[in-house]
Parts: sequence; C-alpha cells; structure tokens
Amino acid sequence: MRKLAILGSTGSIGTQALDVAARHSDRFTVTAIVAHSSAEKLFEQVRAFRPQIAALTVEPGEIPEDIRNACQWMFGENVLLDVVRACDADDILVSVVGIAGLAAVMESLKCGKRVLLANKEPLVAGGELVTEAAKKAGHPLLPVDSEHSAVFQCLQGAGPNRPERLILTASGGPFRTWAKEDIMMATKEQALKHPNWNMGRKITIDSASMMNKALEVIEARWLFDMPAERIDVLIHPQSVIHSMVEFEDGAVMAQLGTPDMRLPILYAMSWPERLATGGARLDFAQMKALTFEQPDLERFPGLGLAYEALHTGGTMSAILNGANEIAVDAFLHDRIRFGQIAQLVEETMHAVPLIHHATLDQVFESDRMAREKAQTLLKTSRFAV
Ligand code: NDP
Ligand code: MG
Repeated sequence: MRKLAILGSTGSIGTQALDVAARHSDRFTVTAIVAHSSAEKLFEQVRAFRPQIAALTVEPGEIPEDIRNACQWMFGENVLLDVVRACDADDILVSVVGIAGLAAVMESLKCGKRVLLANKEPLVAGGELVTEAAKKAGHPLLPVDSEHSAVFQCLQGAGPNRPERLILTASGGPFRTWAKEDIMMATKEQALKHPNWNMGRKITIDSASMMNKALEVIEARWLFDMPAERIDVLIHPQSVIHSMVEFEDGAVMAQLGTPDMRLPILYAMSWPERLATGGARLDFAQMKALTFEQPDLERFPGLGLAYEALHTGGTMSAILNGANEIAVDAFLHDRIRFGQIAQLVEETMHAVPLIHHATLDQVFESDRMAREKAQTLLKTSRFAV
C-alpha cells in the first residue's frame, strides 16, 4: 500500500490521479489533498477519500458539518509546505500550476519523499537545484508530463545505454495550420480549445502558443540530463506517439497510447509496475495515418526561446517561466493579444539580469524580477491591445 499526497487535487491532473487511486484502492491510499480555493470540490474529495489532511490556501467560509471532524484541516498561504511537512505519505504528486510548486518539490525531497512531478514550472525555473536535491534524496523524479513519461518508459530496460537524442512530440495545438497574422489575433475561446487534451487553463494556453513545448524541452534537459541540441521537437497532430528516444545504433523507441493522462499519472504512481487505467486502447487497424511535421519557429517563436534560455544558462529559464506566467495571465485578462505572449517573454528575457549558479532564493528573486519587468513592459504602448 503506497501512501499518496496530492498537491493540486481539484485540478485536471489531481482529479485524474484520484480516479486511478480509487480504481486501485488496494494499492494506494490518499493521505493528504491540497487545493487553492475550490472548497466545494475539496469537500467532495474528503467525503470520497477520507484523507488524514485536507488543505486550501484560501480559507473557506464554513466546513460542512458531516466532514468537520473527518480530517485535519489546514489553511493559509504556506499550506503546500505545511502539508508536505505534516503528511504521512511515501509519494507526493505535485500537480499545482506554475512556480508555486517549486518550494514544495524541494521540501518533499528534503523530507525524503518521492516526488511524482506533473507541475513542470519548478523544473523549468530551478532544474539544476531540483535534480540535485532528488539525487541527494536518492529517489528518481517520476515524470507525469506525458512526453517525459514516454521518454522515461522508453528508457526502462535501456541498461547503461544513454540515448543519443530525445524526440518530444507535440500536437501543434489549435493554431497548427494558422497563418501568423491570425495567430496574433486569436481569441481566448479559440486558444482554450485544445484538439486532443482536456487540461487546466494555463497549460492549454501554453499548448496553443507552443510555450508548453518550450517548457517541456527545458524540463527534459533536466530530467534526462540531456543537452539542448540533442532534444528535438516534432509535430505529430494525432498525439498517438507521446515521445521517442534514439540510441547510438539508430534504434528508436517510442511510447504510444490514446491521449489519456491517467496512463502517465498511474505509471508514476505504480512504477516500475504497470496497472490498468480503464482508458481506451489504441486500435491500429482504425488509425488512418500518423503524420509528422517540423515545428515552425516563425509562427511559434516561443519554442525557440527555450533553446535560447538553455544556451544562455543561469537563471534565464526562470526568467522565461516567470515572464510567461505573467503573459498568459495578461492574455486571459484581455491585456495582450495572443501573438504578443512570446514577444513579452522575449523582451523580459533580454531585460532581467542573469544569475549563474543560483541558489533557491536567487531563483525566486529572478522569478520575481521577471514578473515585475513583464508587468512594466505590459504598461508600454507596444503591448496595448
Ligand atoms: P489545473 O489548473 O487544472 O489545476 C491546478 C490545481 O492546483 C488545482 O487543484 C488548484 O486548486 C491547485 N493550485 C493552484 N495553485 C495552487 C497553490 N498556490 N496552492 C495550492 N494549490 C494550488 O492545472 P492542471 O492539472 O492542468 O496542471 C497542473 C500542472 O501539471 C501544471 O504545471 C501543468 O503544466 C502540468 N501538466 C498538466 C497536464 C494536464 O493534462 N492537465 C499535462 C502535463 C502537465 P483550485 O482548484 O482551488 O484552483
Ligand atoms: Mg506534456
């Protein structure tokens, strides 16, 4: 029986993790759940899973009578860290959004807990520190992001053979075939409609701008200790191949499946075993074609920024991430056009001072400076809608 804590239990990843945990209740027990402000959803989860701890960053008006004494309740801004320290868990699934998960990831590793990582922004901002902490903790970071889970699965059984190249696939998002001028003017409704996956708002916007793939290139760099020039991105609109690795002899291993996040979530939970997800299976005879395209950096400049950030090194990836979080929020609040997201990130990257060999505090400081700079740039006439 593995004891699991879920940070971000009410989100897209969190609810799917609870779904597979319920399916295998003989294998997993959920001991803690944390969300931001979705109190009603969290109450329902407490009724269904009876965790020892339930927590929210925003204190709700009242806890319903029937569950008031069902568990320990924790509230407040620092609740992620408080829960990591207090919970009785072997594994912590980090599925909050944005850099908010970084301190929790570091604390989980410090407490000797295994981290199942959906939340990609901590690795983007603090990759070197996170991977070092995982090494010290003696646990592998178990990737939940589908591409990284695919690579991780392809590497099982590779023995001492290091892959020569990683090939991260990308659906291309809703604007894959759109002209640059149309992408510039895309609306929120259009950007929030992903062709293959149903996800939280931030990652859905990131997928449309291909900034998600940019974050994933940086994520892969750290998870698999692979230099940027050996991480390729390939557009694959059907989302059947979730990513591939190429070895020295030219052999390519790929992981395939229907687009269902429950597989990578459950694989991280049950690794090295495989358990049933209850999801649909691939039907090769019904499949029309698997197609591939080169990504177009002209129409999706965000992707190129990942390579620039990795080549520059230091805190540049943290700056990219902080600026992108502001840019996505600004787009969702009608403050910039869709096509300006990458522009705001790029201008911020070129304006914030870089720190090499940063400490955790310096990573947070770079993130703060990036956000401040992006907010200042947003007020300039170039970014007027
Ligand atoms: P959602 O927006 O659907 O869910 C986010 C969850 O985190 C919610 O439970 C939310 O609570 C909670 N949360 C947000 N901020 C905080 C905070 N500061 N403290 C405590 N809880 C918080 O996001 P997703 O599930 O889509 O994504 C989660 C992470 O996983 C992201 O980093 C994303 O990039 C990554 N990911 C997601 C995939 C997907 O298919 N969705 C695929 C691959 C990676 P509340 O409901 O109260 O707001
Ligand atoms: Mg992904």
